[in-house]
Amino acid sequence: MTYVPCNRPATGPTPWCQLALADLAALDPAGRSLGCYNPRRVRGRSGPWSLHACGRAVDWRSADRRRGWEVARWVAWFGHTDIQLIIFDGQQWGGRFNRGWVPFQGPDPHYDHIHIESRVAVPTVHITTGAPVN
Ligand SMILES: [Zn+2]
Repeated sequence: MTYVPCNRPATGPTPWCQLALADLAALDPAGRSLGCYNPRRVRGRSGPWSLHACGRAVDWRSADRRRGWEVARWVAWFGHTDIQLIIFDGQQWGGRFNRGWVPFQGPDPHYDHIHIESRVAVPTVHITTGAPVN
């Protein structure tokens, strides 16, 4: 699958992001949102825009590492082709590698939150159930 970068910042979160946060809150009530939209560059790099700048990424903090892995694996399982990248606890799923969980090489290992990116601005599935969005 093609990785869809953020070429220019949007003006706010996408419908995908808003639904993803609602889905995550339902799956993991003890966790909390760290946000969707943030018009910034990728951390540690001066060039590319973060997917948060396009409102196509969510950051979610579960109560602890164990629950974080449950949520991250669950979303990867149901991820559908909308999901292009998940980063958590020094590992990544999807992205350019697209072969399950592999070590994340970027500067921020995401030990304390799950980062989930979408290819699309408008959701086609719920990221925690795989159910279609009508
Ligand atoms: Zn993030």
